[in-house]
Amino acid sequence: MSLFGSSGIRGIVNEKITPDLIHEIGKTVGEDNQEVILGRDTRPTGDMVSSALISGLTSVGADVKRAGMVSTPTLAQSANEFDCGIMVTASHNPEEYNGIKFWNPDGSSFDSEQMEEIERRVKEKSSLSSWEKVGRVERYEGAIEEHISRILKKIGREYDQKVIVDCANGAASLITPYLLREMGCEVVTLNSQPDGTFPAHESEPVEENLTDLKSLVKNSDADLGIAHDGDGDRMVAFDENGSYLGGDRLLALFARSFSSVVVPVNSSMVIDDLADKVTRSKVGDVYVSEKLKEKNAEFGGEPSGTWIFPKVSYGPDGVYAAALLVKMSVEMDLSSEVDQLPSYPRKKSSVKIEEKREVMENLISLYQDTYSENELNFADGIRFEEENGWGLIRASGTEPKIRITAEARSEEEVESIFENAKDKLSRVRS
Ligand code: MG
Repeated sequence: MSLFGSSGIRGIVNEKITPDLIHEIGKTVGEDNQEVILGRDTRPTGDMVSSALISGLTSVGADVKRAGMVSTPTLAQSANEFDCGIMVTASHNPEEYNGIKFWNPDGSSFDSEQMEEIERRVKEKSSLSSWEKVGRVERYEGAIEEHISRILKKIGREYDQKVIVDCANGAASLITPYLLREMGCEVVTLNSQPDGTFPAHESEPVEENLTDLKSLVKNSDADLGIAHDGDGDRMVAFDENGSYLGGDRLLALFARSFSSVVVPVNSSMVIDDLADKVTRSKVGDVYVSEKLKEKNAEFGGEPSGTWIFPKVSYGPDGVYAAALLVKMSVEMDLSSEVDQLPSYPRKKSSVKIEEKREVMENLISLYQDTYSENELNFADGIRFEEENGWGLIRASGTEPKIRITAEARSEEEVESIFENAKDKLSRVRS
């Protein structure tokens, strides 16, 4: 079984995430990286995981700077002065989870090749350095202040907005409220005491977890509500009326101010209406980031609430995104802008299929026979373009299922794209 997913390693502490394993990962990373900066989110197990990492890193001679409790984008940006950055976090997963994410000096997370290399060498178990070469550990002060000052330089300070911020008791509690006050905002905080047991609500920033924020924004004179996940790389929002700005809506709002954007294959055609040049990548912020570099594009995002601004960093930065949204809310009437965004009907369903891989291979040949090359994208499953819409056929990563999604300008067209895809799927199965 593969240790790493697309976002590093994650699992339940002392089941998958054991001190032995983390120590071994620390040794492997420490062999290639002499100077490492380390941060953690608010989870109570962060001390144990950090200690195991430090033990591994220093045992092979690496020096470690401890940035302490910081948001993931803060740590990713600090990595630019080091050989690499390591963040102890399980993002939006429940409190029993923890994990590690690795960052390159340009703020991008380790790609699949780098992770496979670590995984291979963890199994081999690297040897220790001699005692006099064991690395040192020092505190690193000022990561949060540096992150804030970089954002202020780009966004400025004159924003007379009232903003309610829900940090899900995660690591953004230590930065976003302070940043927005520096920007001139009146800030009301909600669930912004660091507490990795996530006592208020689950830390995934989806509308159903954010009912308190929604009603507070709606029933007050606030201009905006902002929410983060447990480690602050994601951001979603509510406009002054308490309408949810997440997923494709916020993606569209951001995308329209950039000429070249990267979004995953499952994102809406609204983006094609608003941005000049759209590239579609595999689903996952790591892949969006990889594609951004390859295409030298200006903005990348995922409907999950992940926003990447390469001029700031190649890693998702929910804190910067929050500041940018505040700026946008001064420059425009967000709620009417959102109301004016096109919205298209969608249909989604899944079919239970055990032999997913074989079926997908046959389906790819069938589509190659029926569609032209520029109508097809195989970055993640099969995305096919139609006159007034598109469809996506993707195997589930975890279940014996193949999912079909269709979006088009009218209900009839959605139905026809969906049925056509379903039909092709049953043809290759029989
Ligand atoms: Mg996260």
